Amino acid sequence: MSSFNNLNSEEITAKDRQYLWHGMSPYNPNQAPMVVTQGSGSWIEDMNGNRYLDAMSGLWCVNVGYGRQELAEAAYEQLKTMAYYPLSQSHLPAIALAEKLNEWLEGEYVIFFSNSGSDANETAFKIARQYHQQTDSPNRHKFISRYRAYHGNSMGALGATGQASRKYMYEPLGGGFLHVRPPDSYRRPEGMSVEDFNLLCAREIEERIIWEGKDTVAAVIMEPAITGGGILVPHQIYLDEVQNICKKYNVLLIIDEVICGFGRSGMKFGHMNFNMKPDIVTMAKGLTSGYLPLSATAVRKDIYEAFKEQGEFSHLRHVNTFGGSPACCALALKNLEIMETENLVERSKQLGQRLADEMAELLDHRMVGDIRSFGFLMGIELVADKATKEPLAPAAVGKIIAACKAKGLIIGRNGDTVPGYNNILALSPPLSSTDEDLDFIIGTFKEVMESQ
Ligand code: PLP
Repeated sequence: MSSFNNLNSEEITAKDRQYLWHGMSPYNPNQAPMVVTQGSGSWIEDMNGNRYLDAMSGLWCVNVGYGRQELAEAAYEQLKTMAYYPLSQSHLPAIALAEKLNEWLEGEYVIFFSNSGSDANETAFKIARQYHQQTDSPNRHKFISRYRAYHGNSMGALGATGQASRKYMYEPLGGGFLHVRPPDSYRRPEGMSVEDFNLLCAREIEERIIWEGKDTVAAVIMEPAITGGGILVPHQIYLDEVQNICKKYNVLLIIDEVICGFGRSGMKFGHMNFNMKPDIVTMAKGLTSGYLPLSATAVRKDIYEAFKEQGEFSHLRHVNTFGGSPACCALALKNLEIMETENLVERSKQLGQRLADEMAELLDHRMVGDIRSFGFLMGIELVADKATKEPLAPAAVGKIIAACKAKGLIIGRNGDTVPGYNNILALSPPLSSTDEDLDFIIGTFKEVMESQ
């Protein structure tokens, strides 16, 4: 940026300190935030010229990798032609993208565009409540989600979130959100099979529906696999049962594909790994690979029918100034085109399989309690004691992350769910990663673990 040309890195850091507020990062007088200046493929570079392989794809979003000129050009061309018009009316990039998303979803959906994953989930909650109002179930206003799941930062989406540490300072949040136990098979009761445990977790949803009043629950929201909360991949039996329960009680099923979508899971969408037919699908991050803000709430066509009534309040009274902005839609279309021409969904599956195969030997390491994979997404659960499964202390987990960074590898960690419980490392590299990138990720991580 030209305004920074004459400044050295200390001066830039001083400006950062003075003007910028970094969420989720405690103020640290001894360690300045990394100022990233460029990226290419799976690699980023900071203002001091240090290069890192970003095995978190930013915030789980840069699916096609950094530095894609054609994405910049798609946005630029659209901005020159028609920069903005609200989607209370329409424009061509939004129509084309909505059609494309139907192809990716392999079903018939009507799409509402917003700006962020949180936005997309808020939209889903409002649609679910209004749908029930308009189909003679006016008391259905509650939502069920799982502990450890993250669904966004706004009052409703944070209400759906099941991570206490993110909520402490902000309660009360949007009302009507209930939580049940997640299917964390690694920490299932001793002596219980994975299948029985998963079934038990699913049936807690049914119990909760009955206890709360069968006609008061609007929807269940869940990711296909809990991502930020520790990469918890359910058994097929869990999601089969959840679908049966939702059907039985006329409760809508909202699937949050904000992270799992767009190839991350090794299929187009995470729920496709489990043969699911969601009522509503929310998506963001990989939709534009993070290049511009855009999210979508895809609603099954027959649910949308209830919004066609001609009553005064029957339409969705929900507006989003920037949602579905033309340049964002044009860029998203190009992003999906790249994924298709470069076969990145299939590539994700192959890379994920190789990652899983080659990391499996780490299960012999004294600190590695469990390794979980979902496509090109991996969670590595670190423990202080394998027998008791006591989580590794946060400082020791931090040391491993810092050692990786010192060797040029950026990895992530689950959002802490309850205090002292943020012991799961995350890997979510760009789907466009090369074989050499994957060599680097695996080699560097193993080297760091060997030194622990
Ligand atoms: N849902 C899931 C599963 C997420 O991981 C996130 C963000 O990380 C969100 C929703 C919220 O998305 P955003 O940060 O774009 O609001």
